Amino acid sequence: MIDEMVAIRLGVFLTILALMMSLECLFPARKLTKTPQTASIVTRWFGNFGLLIIASVVARLLLPLGLAGFALYTTQQQWGILHWVNLPHWVNIISSLLLLDMLIYWQHRLFHRIPLLWRLHKVHHADRHVDSSTALRFHPLEIIASLGIKALAIIILGIPAEAVILFEILLNGFAIFNHANIRLPKKMEHIARYVVVTQILHRIHHSQVMAESNTNFGFSIVWWDRLFGSYSAKASKADEDIDIGLIEYPNAKQNAWLTGLLWMPFTHKKK
Ligand SMILES: [Zn+2]
Repeated sequence: MIDEMVAIRLGVFLTILALMMSLECLFPARKLTKTPQTASIVTRWFGNFGLLIIASVVARLLLPLGLAGFALYTTQQQWGILHWVNLPHWVNIISSLLLLDMLIYWQHRLFHRIPLLWRLHKVHHADRHVDSSTALRFHPLEIIASLGIKALAIIILGIPAEAVILFEILLNGFAIFNHANIRLPKKMEHIARYVVVTQILHRIHHSQVMAESNTNFGFSIVWWDRLFGSYSAKASKADEDIDIGLIEYPNAKQNAWLTGLLWMPFTHKKK
């Protein structure tokens, strides 16, 4: 079953990516204007997709069967809180999905708060333009740290393998969706933002203004931001005018080239 779900995961990932990239081409929300600070789309995509490939290889080497394979093992061992309480399987799955999503929300807040972790996460934020490929742009060390945190949660909470893989499918899909350079129709956007993180909400998180970037940490459902007081409905500038990226990385060689991205956590620049 795990094999099938891994294949489904790849299929869903490629479908959502293709769909969002097509929509970005047809109806871009913001124009990628060529400035000395902004690299060409080819350079950006080479950096962003390059990071995805390197991080995937690293993750595969560390956990050959993935987090779901790991969860299968911990389930066999009956480790974790959910094995001690006798809940119906579907309740286990739903509560696991919610718990994992809340964990990722707090992990994201921590990556902004703790300077050492920010060094890794700033690679994601230094992108001067946000599109579907930005959703894939995480430093391999951030992927390793995140794998470790998720593995710990799986052991402690006793999250079943199906929930882990379902969560990965959803998280991936939502991340590509809310980074896409599109804008939902106004009415739909206003309704959607009560449940999910929309593109407009997530672009506020990519603002160069730190007070704005330190809001809207959610990757899929928006409730954690609303619940824990980090929700921001509006930036100081209109969606099409928000300055995106990090001021301290104005140079395309640093903020877009693959070598610059890999090296970024080891550079000394203050927030
Ligand atoms: Zn962030």
